[in-house]
Amino acid sequence: MKAKGTKNKFTAEVKNEMKLRLPSLSVNEGMARAAVAAFCSQLDPTPSELADIKCAVSEAVTNCIVHAYKDSIGIIYITVRLCEGGLVRIEIKDNGCGIEDVELARKPLFTTDAENERSGMGFTVMESFCDKVRVFSGCKKGTTVTLFKYLRGR
Ligand code: ATP
Ligand code: MG
Repeated sequence: MKAKGTKNKFTAEVKNEMKLRLPSLSVNEGMARAAVAAFCSQLDPTPSELADIKCAVSEAVTNCIVHAYKDSIGIIYITVRLCEGGLVRIEIKDNGCGIEDVELARKPLFTTDAENERSGMGFTVMESFCDKVRVFSGCKKGTTVTLFKYLRGR
């Protein structure tokens, strides 16, 4: 149990917010990445922090396109929250097929799509470029991935 009065460092007051919804067309992956980066730029991130954000968003959005809505086109919902203390929270949600075993899916090199030469490194990339990655998913209920990143500046 958490000690009384301990503040979770990944919950901070929201200062600004952006919402975006896009069909899961592969052309929209670049759009999502660029839009999130543009919105985060107001916090004056370093080029390296911005590159980390773009890369993590790209992996999460690509997963919606290629896994969640594998044989169909669905909607990808993206919410970006800029919080107190330089915390960025990026939520990427789909209503697709869901993940059977999230713990297994997050393991390096695990993929359900080896025939298309996927490497199973998307979640590992997200984790290495962010401070925390949260995944909620249920079979046929969709998936929500939340990326947490502190911009620490120069
Ligand atoms: P890579 O990202 O290296 O191309 P990958 O997409 O298979 O390969 P991860 O991104 O780590 O690897 O995802 C691991 C597995 O989790 C996927 O193979 C897929 O089964 C499942 N998965 C990930 N995101 C979703 C999602 N949004 N909806 C349904 N399944 C998902
Ligand atoms: Mg992936």
